[in-house]
Amino acid sequence: MKDCIFCKIINNEIPSFKLYENEYILAFLDISQVTKGHVLIIPKEHYKDIHELDETAAKNIFKNVPELATAVKEAFNASGINIVNNNGEAAGQTVFHYHVHIIPRYNEKDGFR
Ligand code: 5GP
Ligand code: ZN
Repeated sequence: MKDCIFCKIINNEIPSFKLYENEYILAFLDISQVTKGHVLIIPKEHYKDIHELDETAAKNIFKNVPELATAVKEAFNASGINIVNNNGEAAGQTVFHYHVHIIPRYNEKDGFR
């Protein structure tokens, strides 16, 4: 979709640090890391939010979430992982191309971040 920042990332019109890609999804580092290793998973097709996803689109996104969460946890040696998805401005969504956040969490002794 024109003027969508995540569609531009998919099309390599703007750069990103990509971690994983298949026919349906792309995983890349969030530009503004809530914690070290903060990753976004997006469908390659443009859907505004969760309410636009059909069953096939949802399956194609979510079937990879556990594996990617585990890979991020191991790569960054995190103690835990938050999976977050904001839908709608009132819920904190700022980019209106559906995405799932993988946010690694660290123990206090590891310095939180
Ligand atoms: P939301 O607030 O919509 O749930 O999350 C949008 C996320 O996209 C934010 O965490 C923000 O940092 C990230 N983001 C916005 N623009 C870019 C960009 O150009 N590149 C990357 N890698 N992340 C972006
Ligand atoms: Zn888009």
